[in-house]
Amino acid sequence: MSKIKIAELFYSIQGEGRYMGVPSVFLRTFGCNFKCAGFGMPRGELSTEVENISFAHSNTPYTDYKDLPLVATGCDSYASWDPRFKDLSPMMESNGIVNRIMEILPHKRWEEEHLVITGGEPLLGWQRAYPDLLEHDSMHRLKEITFETNGTQKLTLEFKDYLNKWKLRNNKSWCESITFSVSPKLPCSGEKWEDAICPSIIYEYEDVGYTYLKFVVATEQDVADAECAIGAYRKAGFDGPIYLMPVGGVESVYTLNNRRVAELAMARGLRYSDRLQVPLFKNEWGT
Ligand code: SF4
Repeated sequence: MSKIKIAELFYSIQGEGRYMGVPSVFLRTFGCNFKCAGFGMPRGELSTEVENISFAHSNTPYTDYKDLPLVATGCDSYASWDPRFKDLSPMMESNGIVNRIMEILPHKRWEEEHLVITGGEPLLGWQRAYPDLLEHDSMHRLKEITFETNGTQKLTLEFKDYLNKWKLRNNKSWCESITFSVSPKLPCSGEKWEDAICPSIIYEYEDVGYTYLKFVVATEQDVADAECAIGAYRKAGFDGPIYLMPVGGVESVYTLNNRRVAELAMARGLRYSDRLQVPLFKNEWGT
């Protein structure tokens, strides 16, 4: 039986992108190829907020995600990749994951809810494990899945095949059942352009599911970077929708940016994505 290292598994409302407002189970896998220490920082500077979080609180090691501090800068889901917190993310067998999903679903089975497989970077190493999870008897009623990815990881041939079969079995067209919510990291994330902007990879996602790009931005310069990236994705053949989403994992930063980003999106004819988990739930762990 396949195992996945699970950083968080919770039930909430999808706060971003295509499924904003839809009740969803979030399966957050452990591990990421980036750190995104530039978010919320002046251009060119990297935050040390995450690395300054000590492993223990008042000399007691953290035992639960919910006790970890939220950060105003850098990656707001740092505990899903920072090795210091890896022991908070258990390696779980598919059976255990499905049992937990059934416990947290309101009707103890899939109804209208959708599954979000997120991270960290969920396509980094776990592609081989998802079929076993999705083939579990209790998962057959699930109708819609979103993969939230940074868009740097190729789909394996085996996983592409599997997802295409999954759609057929569910008698769904490509745009109804599988979504790739791709958030390529712009220079404001602190990651290098050549590592983060990978148009040929996204083009492959479009073969399998409904794919859109979601750029996290704060300033006009970030939006100019997004437009440059959009040009590269379009040139490679990507023709899906594009969202701008405000930076801000905590409310004080989010409220500084959300209206301006909405206006910048409108001015360019791009879609705006909120991040509803911030105003609704303060972006606490498990929301
Ligand atoms: S890609 Fe996402 S999970 Fe990974 S460090 Fe960046 S913001 Fe965090």
